[in-house]
This record gives sequence, structure tokens and C-alpha cells, in this order.
Amino acid sequence: MSEKRIDAGELSERERELIERVDAKKEELIDLLSQLISIDSRTVDPSKYTNLEEIFMHVKHFMESCGATTQFINCPHDRDDPDKGKPWYNLLGWIGKREGGHILQFNGHLDVVPFEESKWKDGLHPLKPVIMNDRLYGRGAADMKGGLASQMMAFKILAESDIKMHGCLQMWFVPDEEINGDHGAQFMAKEHKEMVNAGGTIISEPTGQPPVISPAIILGEKGHKWLRFTMHGSSGHGSMPKPKSNAIQKVTRFISSIKKLKLPKVKPPLTIWNMLKGVLSRFTLRQLIKAARSPGDDEPDPYNEDGIGIGNFFKTTISFTGIKAGKKVNVIPDTCEFCVDIRVLPGVTTQDVFDSLARYCTKLGYRLELPEGYDNIQEGNRKVRDRPVDIELEIISCTNGTFVEPDRSFTKLLAKAFEDVYRVRAVYFFAPGSTDAVHMREQGIQDVVVFGPTGSRTHDSNEYVEIEHLVKTCKVYLLLAYRMLCKDTRNAPDSPSL
Ligand SMILES: [Zn+2]
Repeated sequence: MSEKRIDAGELSERERELIERVDAKKEELIDLLSQLISIDSRTVDPSKYTNLEEIFMHVKHFMESCGATTQFINCPHDRDDPDKGKPWYNLLGWIGKREGGHILQFNGHLDVVPFEESKWKDGLHPLKPVIMNDRLYGRGAADMKGGLASQMMAFKILAESDIKMHGCLQMWFVPDEEINGDHGAQFMAKEHKEMVNAGGTIISEPTGQPPVISPAIILGEKGHKWLRFTMHGSSGHGSMPKPKSNAIQKVTRFISSIKKLKLPKVKPPLTIWNMLKGVLSRFTLRQLIKAARSPGDDEPDPYNEDGIGIGNFFKTTISFTGIKAGKKVNVIPDTCEFCVDIRVLPGVTTQDVFDSLARYCTKLGYRLELPEGYDNIQEGNRKVRDRPVDIELEIISCTNGTFVEPDRSFTKLLAKAFEDVYRVRAVYFFAPGSTDAVHMREQGIQDVVVFGPTGSRTHDSNEYVEIEHLVKTCKVYLLLAYRMLCKDTRNAPDSPSL
């Protein structure tokens, strides 16, 4: 499917030269990404320490070979286990003046999600990158070593050029986005905000997916409420059923009635029409309908009867993601544990979600116990006050939804660089999943946007990035950096000095 072209502005000679240098370094860029993929950097569980020294040392050497000043800011592993105190690495590398000028920051996570080697197609391997049909395959190719490689190459080209900079270009590598960012983005934004509070930050997560082929600019993300519930019931002999008090059956009731749960409602920051308008600036309606009807590259999942669910972008959602109960086949269990993943729009608080859940539990006749510090609207309710606690709620992790207004000058500068390279209209999206942007925006760091090379099958087997977009996004990063930090600074957005 081809995208509608637009007439973008002319590039200056200097800009054209820089862009051509990216083409000349295409093989080097592919090589850099291949090296990053080959270094195993899987993270699994924030409570367990993962040693990412090899990959962090690799990027540190790369940054230093470009002439960057580097600094590790490590977060100690904080669990009470043999690994307590070991370092989770955060690496900063920069060129230019840190004081007095504008600061542009590139950011990405070096960790990847686990894989099952046997599920990858013949000839592919998660840690042995392969190029096929102009795609580079490997774990992290799209999420997000590809984006990092593009940013690193843009950094290198600018650093190697003889162009005078008025400001500072900084790269910030984090270790644990895939496991919530406790020791990376969260730690840095909370404890070392002055080091990462730039005039503009681009996280290079992959933002191009069919039907939007060329990457979108993601301005906001939902927050998450990851919760664990423990349902209490009454144990007994399996020969004597207890439909009302069997903990599994109580949970079944909670799940099967879920349509009655009224999750908090707020206006989404971008409407379905805003997003559709963006997509229609690139494709005709006919193209879109055709694309929706014809199956994509991936084999369809015969069990998926739910489809994509576009509506999920614009409302609070809930998914059941775990359940555990029972010890023996002939014993009725007295507890059943289950987890939910609730995704909220900006403006919905944890207390709002707890109020919804408390109302729902009252409807079911269950008494809910909330963690300390939250109000429980069930308190004193006649229907449930004399009951023992049926459900205990525990927070696994909570973040809020966040959003950057599209008319900010940094966003506009990025959109312009995008259009000048891609020659298609920039589109803004709001993402249902979250990235480290949430942690940064929550600490008041402004102008954090997500933009990175098109790829697919992230967190799945046969993950890949499109080489064309690896190269093009590198050009966008470079052009933006040049315009923000090297050209007449009147064009650049306001930036707090470090
Ligand atoms: Zn990612």
C-alpha cells in the first residue's frame, strides 16, 4: 500500500549533505544494530537482578568512539537477596555544551523481552540477526535496538561533522523498560531529573505499524493499573460442592459479570476522528478498507475472535491476565488469586479505578479491601459491611496516562523534520500501551515524544525492523538535531539548562 506524497520544504545544502551521509553509512548502521541484537539483554523480572554489563559497555565504547563524554548513573538493586546492591546501569553520553544551550535527548531501553527459540521460523534466530526482504530479523530489532541504533548513528554523524553546535545532544540508555523501568527511567526521572530534563526527548520505540506504514509521532499514552486480587472462600471436600463459597467459583462470578463493571470515563486526548484524519492524509478510504479486509503478512490466529478493537484506544479497558488456585484435585480451595491489567486515559486516577471496583464488588455482594491510603466507598455500606473480606486488592504497579499537546514547538520541529525526510504527512497518535515516556512526564519532564522505525512482531517470534525505516528515521533524528542545536537557535524550543 503506497502512501500519499506531499510537497515538503527544500533542504539546505548542509542538510542535504548530512542526509547523504546517512545513506553512505547504511551498512554501518545495519552492522551496529546486528551487534546490539547479538548481545543477549533479556530482562524477566524486576525483583531479580539482570546483569546488563556487556551491552552497556558496548554502547559506552561506541559513544566514546564518537567523542562523547559518558557517565554511568547506576541504580542499586534493592531487593533483599544475594544480588542486593548490584548496579542497574543508566548511561548518559553527550556532545556539546550542557549549560546555556538547548538540549536534545535521544532515549531508549537496551533490554529485550524473553523468547522461545523454537518458535522462530527456519533460518531465523533471536540472537543471530538475519536480513531477508529488506527486513532485519532478531529479538529487539524493532523493540527497540533498531531505534537506538538509528539514534546512535545520527549522534555519530553529527559528532563527526565539523558543524558548530549551540547546544547539547544527549543519549540516555536505560536497562529495564520491559519490566516497568523501576531502575531506569523511573529512577532517573525521580532521583536525577536535572540530568535528563532536556528541551525535548525522543524515545525511539517503533511507531510505524500497518495501516500507518511510515512511523507516527506518539504524543501520549495510557497509564496502567496492574492489580492482584486474592479472593477468599471456604475450603472443603471435593465431593460436597460449595458454589457460593468455593474461591474459584467466586472469581468466576467476578469475571463473567465484568460487563457490569463501570470503569471511569473521561474524554480521550485525541478522538477517533483526529486519528482517522491523520491516517486519511496518507491513504484513500478505498486503500484503508482493502487493507482492513486483506490479511497481512502474519498468519492469522484462528483462536482470535476479538479482532483489533480500535475502540480500546479511547476508553479505560480491563484484561484478566493471571489466575491461580487449588492444591489438590479433591479439595475445594479457600483462596484464588487473579491479576488484571487496567489501562487508563490521562485524567483517570488510581482512586477513580478503586471506586469503580468497589461499586462493582458491592453489586456482586463482595466486600473489598483496598491497600492503605485509599478511600473505600464501600465503607459502611449495609449490603456488605457485615461480611468478612471477600477480596483483597494489592497494587503491582500503577502509572497515570499522559499526553503532550501537538502544538508544542518541539513536536512541530520533529513533525517538520519527518515530513522533509519522508515526504508524507506527519500523524499524531495516542498509544494504548505505555513506554518510559509515562515515567518522565509524571516527573514533569516536558516534550517527551515517541518516534521510531517501523517494524513488527514485537514481543513475539520473528520480530523484525524495516531497513528502509531504520535509515529514514536516522535521517529524521539527524535533521532535527541539526535544526535544533546547530542552526540559528531562534527556531529551537525553550529548554531548561542542565
Ligand atoms: Zn520497547
